[in-house]
Amino acid sequence: MAVTVTRRDPRYLALRRGHNLRWPAHDADAAERILICESAGDAQAALQQVVTAGLRPTVRSGGHCYEDFVANNPGGAILDVGSVSQVTRDASSGTFHVGSGAQLWNTYEALYKHYGVTLPGGVCGTVGVGGHVSGGGYGPLSRLHGLICDWTTAVHILTVDRNGKVMPIRADAKEHPDLFRACRGAGGGSFGLITEFEFNTLPPAPSEVAKASLSFSWEEMTLQKFTDILVNFGKYWETRGQERDTWGMYSVLELAHRSSGKFSLSVQFCNPDGTCRDLQVLQEYLNLFVKWSEKSNTAKAAIGRNDWFDACAMSAGDAANRRGKYKSAYMRRGFTSAEATVIYKYLTKEIEGTSLHAASFDAHSYGGAVNRREMAEKTSITQRGSVIKLQPLTYWEDPQEGATQTQWLAEFYEELYSGPDADPQHAGTPYWNHQYQGCYINYPDVDMLKYNYWPQLYYGEDNYKQLQAVKRRYDPNNVFHHSMSVRL
Ligand SMILES: Cc1cc2nc3c(=O)[nH]c(=O)nc-3n(C[C@H](O)[C@H](O)[C@H](O)COP(=O)(O)OP(=O)(O)OC[C@H]3O[C@@H](n4cnc5c(N)ncnc54)[C@H](O)[C@@H]3O)c2cc1C
Repeated sequence: MAVTVTRRDPRYLALRRGHNLRWPAHDADAAERILICESAGDAQAALQQVVTAGLRPTVRSGGHCYEDFVANNPGGAILDVGSVSQVTRDASSGTFHVGSGAQLWNTYEALYKHYGVTLPGGVCGTVGVGGHVSGGGYGPLSRLHGLICDWTTAVHILTVDRNGKVMPIRADAKEHPDLFRACRGAGGGSFGLITEFEFNTLPPAPSEVAKASLSFSWEEMTLQKFTDILVNFGKYWETRGQERDTWGMYSVLELAHRSSGKFSLSVQFCNPDGTCRDLQVLQEYLNLFVKWSEKSNTAKAAIGRNDWFDACAMSAGDAANRRGKYKSAYMRRGFTSAEATVIYKYLTKEIEGTSLHAASFDAHSYGGAVNRREMAEKTSITQRGSVIKLQPLTYWEDPQEGATQTQWLAEFYEELYSGPDADPQHAGTPYWNHQYQGCYINYPDVDMLKYNYWPQLYYGEDNYKQLQAVKRRYDPNNVFHHSMSVRL
């Protein structure tokens, strides 16, 4: 039976919120109770109890949601499935079963130690599988192996029918295929409560990875150098970076605000066979940037080699809970100089009384195995032609700074997508065109709600219609909803 935590419980204040400390913004926005479920059976009983009582359920696995979709639930109940976290393999079929509450690092560890395989997911070890896989799930091995949702072969989900009855469903490519597809990338919190993901097979974990990073001093930076770095980065991922021998390479250009002193380019690499026997691809890549870096006098970036498991453990880290705001964009092509100029402008901008030292514009290498065309049909992630994925973000501690920080980021983003490459009908957003492919639902941004075409931005036009049909069929009473959930 689920443990119920109410306002009188000393655990309440800690458990009513997730990773992003912005929510609940006010006490009145908070859920009245949190139900801690230990098993799929617990979750089913708890969900039935909440729905029968006429309360709104929100679902939490790892609690890493960027927006307020879970914590903002006035008078309602948070169903926390973080303890539904088994990672097992069926001995006869060989199918892997991962509980939706499992955290990424625990999952990587269990899959590696017991079976030598992995999920090609994100770096942060405390992200929950429940939200991560529902929204796609992307990380350092995705260019080599695709998104996690590409590997998902079945989903166990609790839906609520028209009469308010909780219905446990196992959805796969044959049974409930439309619901299955929706659970592969359309984002959590729209269709039901997922208790488990199945994977018939999973890719082998690499044996070894090489890592390197370069840093670039803001003091020595000019607009011209900055533009050259961005244009080179983009050009590489648009061209050479899509060739098969580079798919084991994952790189992040982390453009930190000037007040932090420097910005960086990090890279993880393995050959497609999961070894480091030939580092030429990596070396060629680093050579493109070394001349602008702080290490240019040594003309070489230091490359470290680690067992993949150790490297994964080191970067899994512990992401401290904090206040943050995030945006996203998929890029089909590299950066233009017009884009670089806007990025430079905002990363060198100062705002009196506000520190932007934790703000950053992160460009992640993308494509490779992610861009397998057939996956646009099989999953709900239809962005299968992009070569870079962007994540502009900012963090702050003082709640009073929230308005200025979010305004800086909103103006930055809007100006970036109002330039010559923007579609004039969708100015201010990276709407789908020859240059962009919209936004990533696992990096949700409620600022986009002001555009009536926000669902198409995240999902594409036809795909969104399909998702709405799934919503009408499996959640006809809109029991599972938040500000960016799929509409009926
Ligand atoms: C520090 C950090 C690092 C990140 N790194 C990456 C990365 O490298 N790659 C990447 O792709 N993403 C990354 N993300 C984004 C991450 O994938 C999403 O925030 C994801 O949705 C988090 O899942 P969660 O279960 O931890 O979050 P939660 O807050 O628990 O849930 C997120 C959303 O999914 C819904 N949901 C959660 N569990 C379930 C369930 N069991 N059934 C149905 N709906 C559910 C929630 O209702 C909510 O709408 C990162 C996020 C953070 C905060």
